[in-house]
Amino acid sequence: MTVQNPGTTTAVPIPAQSTYQARIADYWNREHNPVNLELGKIDDLYHHHYGIGDADWSVLDETDAERRRELVTAELHRLEHAQAELLATHLGPLTPADRVFDAGCGRGGGSVTAHLRYGCHADGVTISAKQAEFAAEQARARGIDDKVRYHHRNMLDTGLATGAYAASWNNESTMYVELDLLFAEHARLLRRGGRYVVITGCYNDTYGQASREVSLINAHYICDIHPRSEYFRAMARHRLVPAHVEDLTAATIPYWELRKQADHLVTGIEDTFLTAYKNGSFQYLLIVADRV
Ligand code: SAH
Repeated sequence: MTVQNPGTTTAVPIPAQSTYQARIADYWNREHNPVNLELGKIDDLYHHHYGIGDADWSVLDETDAERRRELVTAELHRLEHAQAELLATHLGPLTPADRVFDAGCGRGGGSVTAHLRYGCHADGVTISAKQAEFAAEQARARGIDDKVRYHHRNMLDTGLATGAYAASWNNESTMYVELDLLFAEHARLLRRGGRYVVITGCYNDTYGQASREVSLINAHYICDIHPRSEYFRAMARHRLVPAHVEDLTAATIPYWELRKQADHLVTGIEDTFLTAYKNGSFQYLLIVADRV
């Protein structure tokens, strides 16, 4: 009988550490939705998240079909960018010497937004190699690649320097991971007194369990939306103390109402989001926390 050396473990491929994570990487490597690319092209700020704020409905009155599409695209982009700016305001104050960590950075718009606001260094991490390359190319084209860097890594095990970050965030990327593993990594990377910000869809505990719509959203994106309560439990376990909580549900509904009418951009999930928000089973939440 051969006794295996107990010190030997099976090699785990990094950054995808599980079959699930490999599927997520595949999904984002293949993703070319016009709702992400057409909006980003406007000013080279690529956001893969939803919008907030009042919509300018007059864009729908345009009678020329081509022009109407352009106006709707620009308006949706404005609302998505407003969401990124809201998140960025909560990261500060920061100085150009500070470093921030963008967990699940997509095509990179959030890190650029933070850098433009504070002049800070940014490290964005995505499990998709394609996204990391795309985002890095954008930073090069803007001439900010000395301060804004993108990495093809796992946000649960980034390999980035302990305590080196003044602020960090997840913008619509927490539903792909276990919160305990994620917050342990943020707590490790953030210096004491550092800021953590999350914007996420979560299911509403007062509704009960996840609704049919929440389950449909999970199936659509291959994710696992957490209940609201789980965020606070997991933060408390990982030295993250909430300082500000904001329910953005009402603020995101105009974005979805407008997007629903954008035939050139819809992905098919629009009605499900609207029903979920309106029946109270789903919430769009901002949490700002201090690392103690
Ligand atoms: N925060 C970005 C993108 C949100 S989309 C924005 O606001 O535009 C979700 C992102 O999470 C994708 O970029 C996906 O690659 C990333 N992601 C999911 N699981 C991940 C993991 N384990 N490690 C790193 N990135 C991950």
